[in-house]
Order: sequence, then structure tokens, then C-alpha cells
Amino acid sequence: THFGFQNVPENMKEHLVKQVFANVASKYDIMNDVMSGGVHRLWKDHFIRTLAPTPGTKLLDVAGGTGDIAMRFLDYCKETHGDNSAQVTVFDINPNMLEVGKERFTKTPYHNTSQVSFMEGNAENLEHIPDNSMDAYTIAFGIRNCTHVDRVLKEAYRVLKPGGRFMCLEFSKVENPVISKVYDVFSFDVIPTMGQIVANDRDSYQYLVESIRKFPPQKEFAKMIKDAGFTVMGQGYEDLTFGVAAIHSGFKL
Ligand code: SAM
Repeated sequence: THFGFQNVPENMKEHLVKQVFANVASKYDIMNDVMSGGVHRLWKDHFIRTLAPTPGTKLLDVAGGTGDIAMRFLDYCKETHGDNSAQVTVFDINPNMLEVGKERFTKTPYHNTSQVSFMEGNAENLEHIPDNSMDAYTIAFGIRNCTHVDRVLKEAYRVLKPGGRFMCLEFSKVENPVISKVYDVFSFDVIPTMGQIVANDRDSYQYLVESIRKFPPQKEFAKMIKDAGFTVMGQGYEDLTFGVAAIHSGFKL
């Protein structure tokens, strides 16, 4: 059995997504390493280097989950600029994922400082975050789980300061036909099987694969970002590992 996610009515998606991440929360970090062979770490490091935050940057990391992006962001600020004034809010719909994140931060120098905070909520409605209040907005492997991507982008635009930057890291489409074939086998067969073996949860990992298939390709997503009001440089995205993932970026000017 699997979620048959294509056929799930829109109003059920949010509920199912919550269930999936509640199921995977405790195994989430290890599964990322197992399934990507550690490559997600390289993608995330590259993502933060591309963001290149300056001292004092205020970042909203949406769908921040267990705080992977937030941790890299603060480490980058500290290591590159000796900066202890950068701040990040880890925002996620799922309290289980946030709990794992809070626990991780207790073992870091950022614990109990104003550099990191956690907020529960839906990316489609950032109601507690004021207009024009953030220097940067990141969303990594989260936007494809949202029901209304246009609302997510609209809210991102609203909360960013003029000059602020939106950046998204997400699974994307492999164009090369040979690599695409290999990737198909890997994602349709290998990932759900690994989910079964490592996390004893085939369905959640089956859902993750299906959600990647359903997400729009690079150019289409870049157009959605422009339609939300952002200014993009060049084509608006960078492929990572043949397009298995991509970084999309736009400025609120
Ligand atoms: N950004 C983290 C990372 O890169 O490791 C976590 C990514 S995880 C694959 C996706 C996260 O998106 C989950 O923590 C899930 O709870 C969250 N999420 C899903 N739908 C959401 C929504 N509508 N609003 C906010 N967070 C959402």
C-alpha cells in the first residue's frame, strides 16, 4: 500500500504531510544521510554559501524541520565573519520536527541565546511575522509539501525587507535521459525500500518520492517566483547534481 498521493483531495494534503513528518521526525536526520549518501550536506553547504549572509542577517528558515539549515547558517556567520549577531527563526508546521531541532541546539553555543528561535505554523500563513522584517527567507526541501505554493511565495515576499532574498533548495527534474533512468529506479524502488528497512515506514518514504515527482520543473517554478513579485537573476535557478536538486532564488526589490 501507499498514500496514492496524486488522488488525495487538497484539503487532506496538509493533514497527511503532518502525519508523514510526525512519523519520520526521530529518524529524519539519519535517513537523509542514508538516502542521499551524505550528498544533502554538500547541497545545504552550497546553499548557505550562495546565500552568503552578512553580519547581523535576520533569517526566516521555513519548513526548517530539525534545524539543519539554521545550524549551517549560524556556523557560517560565526566562522566567516566572527559574527554572533545573526539570527534565525526555525519555522515549521510539525511540532515533532521542531522538538528534534530544539534538542539538537541544546548541544551548541547558540542554545539559550537570541540567535535561534522556533515557531510552529503553516508556510502559507506567516501571520505572526511582520511585513518587511526579514533579510532572508530560506525553504529547503519543504515547499513541495505545501498545498498552495503561490501562497507560500506571497507570504515570503511580504515578510522580506526590500532588498531581501528568497532562496529555495528543493528536489527538481533531471533532464539527462540516462541519468534520469537511473534516478527513477533509485527513487521509486530503492528509497521506499530503505525507508522500510531503516525506519520501518515504507509509506512515508513512498509519499516523499511522489511529492518530488509532482513538483513543477525548474523553469516553471522560476516563473512562479517571478509571478509572486520577485526579481530573479538570469534563469533564476542553479541545478545541483544534474538537477536532482535545484536552488531557486529571487530578490524583493
Ligand atoms: N528544511 C529541513 C531540511 O532541509 O532538513 C527539513 C525538510 S523536511 C523534508 C520538510 C519539512 O517541511 C518538515 O519538517 C515538515 O514538517 C515541513 N512542512 C511541511 N509542510 C509545511 C507547511 N505547510 N508549513 C511549514 N512547514 C511545513
